[in-house]
Amino acid sequence: MAQTVYNFNPGPAILPPPVLAEAQAELRDYRGTGMSLLELSHRSAEYEAINAKAQARLKGLLGLGDDYRVLFLQGGASLQFAMVPLNFLRPDTVADYLASGSWSEKAVAEAGLLGEVRLAASTQADGYRRTPRAGEIALSAHSAYVHLTSNETIHGVQWHAWPDCGERPLIADMSSDLLSGPLDARRFALIYAGAQKNLGPAGATIVIARAAFLDTAPQTIPAILRYATHAKAHSLYNTPPTFSVYLLNLTLRWIEAEGGLPALGARNRAKAASLYAAIDDSGGFYRGHALPESRSLMNVTFRLPSEADERAFLDAATAAGFVGLAGHRSLGGVRASIYNAMTVEGCAVLAAFMGEFARRRG
Ligand SMILES: *Cc1c(COP(=O)(O)O)cnc(C)c1O
Repeated sequence: MAQTVYNFNPGPAILPPPVLAEAQAELRDYRGTGMSLLELSHRSAEYEAINAKAQARLKGLLGLGDDYRVLFLQGGASLQFAMVPLNFLRPDTVADYLASGSWSEKAVAEAGLLGEVRLAASTQADGYRRTPRAGEIALSAHSAYVHLTSNETIHGVQWHAWPDCGERPLIADMSSDLLSGPLDARRFALIYAGAQKNLGPAGATIVIARAAFLDTAPQTIPAILRYATHAKAHSLYNTPPTFSVYLLNLTLRWIEAEGGLPALGARNRAKAASLYAAIDDSGGFYRGHALPESRSLMNVTFRLPSEADERAFLDAATAAGFVGLAGHRSLGGVRASIYNAMTVEGCAVLAAFMGEFARRRG
């Protein structure tokens, strides 16, 4: 079936058509078992193979070795906001948080319920239009960890150079940009991401962490909330979201076939460039939310001259076959989420639509 819409949903979001086609072909009878994967035990050889393969693929794409663990959990990135401090923020320590948007704020709020949190930098006063600059970041002498949000999905603000944290463990919420381009993952003690933005359907939450760091967590927290529990059990401690991990694995294979992270990074830069050019070339009709230094390659956020213009834009976009362009309810405006599976062509068609709309209405 031909694609009839351009899907710019922020999450759950667009998936690669070959991934959906393969899942459909295998849905009723998974590889000759006579059963759907949906009906198979998570202890079956079939699922264990998917689980192992997806972990190996993630490590392979990120160039990580045996000193890192890949976990597939549930509860979304939102549970990670609590699990990170539960595991690593001890009573006598402090954690540094860098705030660049709403998701950082949520992480700060959850950690604050569990321990001592310092806002080592925040761009809230600037309306979260950029990430903190090096000179603005004041880290504690002995932080348990430093936490940042690599891409603020709502504000469309992305880190493009990591802050220098010295020896402090660096933890990142990469829910909306993990595997969108090359990543020096070894800089991080722990990375987490809900799958449903850039990597698969809702259900699985990916955690990638240094094994030695996971071992520093106390044994006194509930087993289900302890990273070490899941690492020891290879993410089979309790029933995992099997179908979500299956689709994640197919998506990872698709990423490999597309040329891996360098190829996707180049494509994502070209996609974002076409939309930012449509903003910059509109004579001020479109106003990007993020400052150019922090523009997201995944979520392009912008305003129009008035809310009436924005409503007219979104209505015309819907009629033209574009889906999911309304900005987050907290921010308004327009947001185009252009994750890995969105094509260069889809972005070019949206950019052309933006140009045409600005000429008619501007
Ligand atoms: C979507 C999102 C979250 C929340 O994810 P859930 O899976 O809904 O818990 C957290 N952080 C970022 C950056 C996100 O984009």
